[in-house]
Amino acid sequence: MSASVQHRRDKMNAVPQPVRENVGGTDPGPRNIPLDQQNPDMLTPPGTDSGTLPNLKFSFGIAHNRLDTGGWAREVTVRELPIATTIAGVNMRLNPGSIRELHWHKEAEWSYMLDGRARITAVDQDGRNFVDDVGVGDLWYFPAGIPHSIQGLGEGCEFLLAFDNGSFSENSTFLISDWLAHTPKQVLAKNFGVAESDFATLPARELYIFQSSVPGPLSSDKVAAPAGSVPQTFSHHMLAQEPVRCKGGTVRITDSRNFPVSKTIAAALVEIEPGAMRELHWHPNNDEWQYYIAGRGRMTVFASSGQARTFDYQAGDVGYVPFAMGHYIENTGDTTLRFLELFKSDHYADISLNQWMALTPPKLIQAHLHLDQKVMRALRKEKSPVV
Ligand code: MN
Ligand code: MN
Repeated sequence: MSASVQHRRDKMNAVPQPVRENVGGTDPGPRNIPLDQQNPDMLTPPGTDSGTLPNLKFSFGIAHNRLDTGGWAREVTVRELPIATTIAGVNMRLNPGSIRELHWHKEAEWSYMLDGRARITAVDQDGRNFVDDVGVGDLWYFPAGIPHSIQGLGEGCEFLLAFDNGSFSENSTFLISDWLAHTPKQVLAKNFGVAESDFATLPARELYIFQSSVPGPLSSDKVAAPAGSVPQTFSHHMLAQEPVRCKGGTVRITDSRNFPVSKTIAAALVEIEPGAMRELHWHPNNDEWQYYIAGRGRMTVFASSGQARTFDYQAGDVGYVPFAMGHYIENTGDTTLRFLELFKSDHYADISLNQWMALTPPKLIQAHLHLDQKVMRALRKEKSPVV
């Protein structure tokens, strides 16, 4: 272990105090020390923080968890994180063979597989179907209103779901069992052309997530549709994309340009090495919704009018950046920081501060910022966007 890694570990394990240079004072308690250790920039903000910004962090770890016979699900929506109006997130576990039951909803669904494997199914408005298996680093997208299901394969699975409306709730989707339980049996009999008694064994209420058995090979679950399969695939191998390698990390971008069906969610999977950072930038198209997969990081969001606030994040946290606000993300741990940036948009876009400055007349930059020549020389070498 290097001296700097040891230093960072010592700092992380120490009891942090809200003292910065000549301001603040120690906290004798009562206090929640593990929470303070996870949020050192909340307890002791950098001196550059200023003004009143809304909360831009919520952890799945403090979201209500809905446990069912086949797994669990918890959500971070506008109810948990009120600023997050564009996207809502759900974190779900399905045990081996368990099913997130056949359903649909008003919002489009984007998902990234975090652990294990699942089988997904869907049928579109033209009677074209889709069945596929997805593993770690794969994603799927179901347009609004398209019915679908998810089933855990041999080892079960855990995934992140994102919906293109912050008001979405996983608890108010349209479930096949719920619908049939609330339709007169005489109507069901007429609809399917059979006897009422044929529905005696129908579940009395919704199943949601329930235990079933692990399905056979993908080929055994293929259903021949007269209209064929969906014209644009609903799944994509995001992690298998060749990453863009940048100074200090990598990025993989998936949007409607390389995953055409994904018309309302654009995504970037970002990795930042220890000591490195995602450079100062902003996004010209929409708010940014983040999900932290691994490592530790911090972000300061600049909100104009002299306002800025810093947040710390770790695996399982959701972060948010309102439209156009400037920000950076710094790896503050000793392992790779990995996270997803999601946008309610058909395309990914960002504007790099360095690139903006490098491509603007140097005299104009100097008239504003009075920078040292070393900064100006560094800028001339900086042409690459993203990380
Ligand atoms: Mn769904
Ligand atoms: Mn960003």
